[in-house]
Amino acid sequence: MRLVIIGGGILGTAHAWAAIGRGHTVIQLEREREARGATVRNFGLVWVSGRSADELALTLRARELWAEIGGRVAGVGFRPAGSITLVRTHAELAVAEAAAAGPTAADRGFALLDPDQVRALNPALRGDFLAGLHCSADAAVESRQALPALRAHMAATGRYTFHEGTEARTVRDTGSGAEVLDDHGRRHAADLVVHCPGAAHSGLTRELAGELPVRRVRLQMMQTAPLGEPLTTAIADGDSFRYYPGYAGPQVDALTVEQSQTATAAEHKMQLLCVQRLHGGLTIGDTHEYTEPFAFDVDEAPYEHLTEVTEALLGRALPPVVRRWAGVYSQSVDPGTLVTRVRADSHVWVVTGPGGRGMTLGPALGEQTADLIGL
Ligand SMILES: Cc1cc2nc3c(=O)[nH]c(=O)nc-3n(C[C@H](O)[C@H](O)[C@H](O)COP(=O)(O)OP(=O)(O)OC[C@H]3O[C@@H](n4cnc5c(N)ncnc54)[C@H](O)[C@@H]3O)c2cc1C
Repeated sequence: MRLVIIGGGILGTAHAWAAIGRGHTVIQLEREREARGATVRNFGLVWVSGRSADELALTLRARELWAEIGGRVAGVGFRPAGSITLVRTHAELAVAEAAAAGPTAADRGFALLDPDQVRALNPALRGDFLAGLHCSADAAVESRQALPALRAHMAATGRYTFHEGTEARTVRDTGSGAEVLDDHGRRHAADLVVHCPGAAHSGLTRELAGELPVRRVRLQMMQTAPLGEPLTTAIADGDSFRYYPGYAGPQVDALTVEQSQTATAAEHKMQLLCVQRLHGGLTIGDTHEYTEPFAFDVDEAPYEHLTEVTEALLGRALPPVVRRWAGVYSQSVDPGTLVTRVRADSHVWVVTGPGGRGMTLGPALGEQTADLIGL
């Protein structure tokens, strides 16, 4: 089969990967010279720890696929480093204890560690905390290099072509297949078209699928110069318990009642996530903004909060911040919907809205679509 895939982010690329793996031929179009969307702005965290029990099977499948891809494509930078969520209050400790004793704890590789055990695992954590919830299933990839690495691997099959700087303008179902017209005036004939536009909900996406049940979410991020020592696991703070459905329960309810976030953290709906890049710098975030129009500049107050929390956990000053940016992802509005997948026409699919878990789930969503459409 010949597929045209529109969108060069992780969803488009994971769909291309699944199709190539099944022996098909793929043309992928990306309107920018290189993908500039959520995929290259994210943490690169393959995050099993906070996913709900309903999402766990697909998340673990995605984790398995990332490990397999990482073994075949070194440039993806896959590493099974795990994570530690550091708790600093008794209310947060109660959430961590419940998670470590929960029915899915073994699947996630959860273990509750005291401060000495935390430091044995991650010696860079010399700050103040009561305990750490270790998740051995969590992993990381290098978002800014993963896409070109995956494309190079697919190109070596001779069945994959990537057109950069190419916007898909029109998609027409021809009855026996579909045809994509791009903004260079080229026509790409296909048996099947999969449109993975990320947060571009207007334009071609609206034309194909109408108003999708998705919304856009904006996050602020930063990256430091090299830390000068390894941070052997990703880290999170107790605020992350408030946002991940996997922790939901009476302990989180009590936490939100008993313990206020700082004014800045509450205003910007913040948690701390921090992961070390292969070059040694730390990627640190994040905030959550839901009301459009989004600011086009970044706010300083959240960065001060993130710096304070990270320094408290590391017990040292952060290296200089060298980059700040914001990113926007597409999220399905119904919290129980993992991804919005719409058949826009007989041979045309639209897939978006994986929310803050799209990097994690990408390979499994590509595989799931391939199964669904019978590739
Ligand atoms: C700051 C931030 C941090 C995050 N951290 C994580 C994380 O650590 N782990 C995790 O699992 N998830 C994370 N996420 C979520 C994850 O990044 C997204 O869910 C995922 O990247 C979405 O991938 P995508 O391919 O759908 O979209 P995108 O990466 O946005 O890609 C869509 C692409 O389609 C292209 N496009 C759109 N329309 C057209 C057209 N007509 N023609 C050609 N090209 C077109 C765009 O240019 C774009 O490159 C984070 C998101 C953000 C913003």
